[in-house]
Amino acid sequence: MSRRATKIVATLGPASSDPDLLERMIRAGVNVVRLNFSHGTSQDHINRAQMVREAAIRAGREVGIMADLQGPKIRVGKFAQGKVFLEPGQRFVMDAARIELGDVEGVGLDYKTLPQEVKAGDVLLLNDGLIVITVDSVQGSAIYTTVKLGGELSNNKGINKQGGGLSAPALTAKDMDDIRTAMAFKADYVAVSFPKNATDMEMARQLCNVAADGGHKPGLIAKIERAEAIPHLEAILLASDGIMVARGDLAVEVGNAVVPALQKRMIKLARDHDRVVITATQMMESMITNPVPTRAEVSDVANAVLDGTDAVMLSAETAAGKFPLETVIEMAKICHAAEGGEGFHLEGDFTGKTFTKIPYAVSMGALFTAHHLGAKAIVALTESGSSARWMSRHLIRVPIYAMTSNIATQRRMTLYRNVRPLLIDASMDRDSALAQAEVDLKALNIVSSGDVYVITCGEPMGAPGGANMLKICQVE
Ligand code: PGA
Ligand code: MN
Repeated sequence: MSRRATKIVATLGPASSDPDLLERMIRAGVNVVRLNFSHGTSQDHINRAQMVREAAIRAGREVGIMADLQGPKIRVGKFAQGKVFLEPGQRFVMDAARIELGDVEGVGLDYKTLPQEVKAGDVLLLNDGLIVITVDSVQGSAIYTTVKLGGELSNNKGINKQGGGLSAPALTAKDMDDIRTAMAFKADYVAVSFPKNATDMEMARQLCNVAADGGHKPGLIAKIERAEAIPHLEAILLASDGIMVARGDLAVEVGNAVVPALQKRMIKLARDHDRVVITATQMMESMITNPVPTRAEVSDVANAVLDGTDAVMLSAETAAGKFPLETVIEMAKICHAAEGGEGFHLEGDFTGKTFTKIPYAVSMGALFTAHHLGAKAIVALTESGSSARWMSRHLIRVPIYAMTSNIATQRRMTLYRNVRPLLIDASMDRDSALAQAEVDLKALNIVSSGDVYVITCGEPMGAPGGANMLKICQVE
């Protein structure tokens, strides 16, 4: 199989925590591993990160690590029997002051301020929207409700309010501790759950800076999963390095029917703002138990690729499913086929653009030239990764090889669509780096005699964001 441009993010969990299996999953196409901070201790995460780094080395692939913070947990309390079955039409009381365990008539609340944040008429969704209840009245700490859509409700299931509006801050005390852990193992990305606005992301950035003492700068991903975040998308994007279309919680809050259109809007907006975007949740859901995906899942993944997402994400499929390796193999196939498909829109014409910065102009010039000259590759010698990211915001078929001597940059670029990040020796001067680029392209079977490729680099080498040179090369 030739190169795949769309990246795959896979969540690590009990089903994928075997080092050999993880190595095989990386070989099969995992580009970024997501560590879910909702489960496990600080030491667990440090060990897992170590396992990912080692598996990546054995597989000979560059792999990024994304630390996904738990965020606020708006949950019901526990039940005496572990769970109850709610019938439609019955009454159910959620009481923040309730101390005894729950039963079929009511339950306590982990989220103590809920009674102050809901009113009669509000619709609450429990357990990812599988149970729907409406608020009849609020009296003190107790919320009196009627069950509309019944089902099984078990301990500590999540609560969402339709339309959003719960005040829980995006960063909890636990998240602050977890940021310190993530900085200790130099997570390449930190994903913030349930941000409401740009301020939440700015705060996360500050916490990372403090925890790393400015020494390690992770990419920040805003998980868009609250109704309130939608009107602030642009500001959130500007305060972040990327977003996740977190369709699980988002669908519960805004209604699942509007999510596909939102996904398209978010992907476009992210790319237009020079940010990365991950499409997440239930992409290959049936493969948790089945060895093949459904037709609908194949279409979903393919459509995210056609929308222009940088990455598609696997959650329970790889964390807790029966077929983690098979899921990655299938997903890689779908991405690859969609990229080559008829519906793929080529943006090869940049004549309508205006540039204000030299490095950006150089990058766009490289894209234009490579596309129209039928180049086999674009090579970006980059310190910060900016030039590779700028180029990867445009959907063209020419693959981008980003060469850097900075390992943090290399790992950060694992998420960029159509970018293959390669590490070069920091001591190289420009001419030897250029020569090395051609050697590498030949070794990777990207170019052979007579092929054209395009290089961008900065002079002097090593200055971040400073591409000022475009070289067009033909292999002898
Ligand atoms: P989660 O986020 O898997 O951490 O809940 C993704 C989503 O809500 O879609
Ligand atoms: Mn979520």
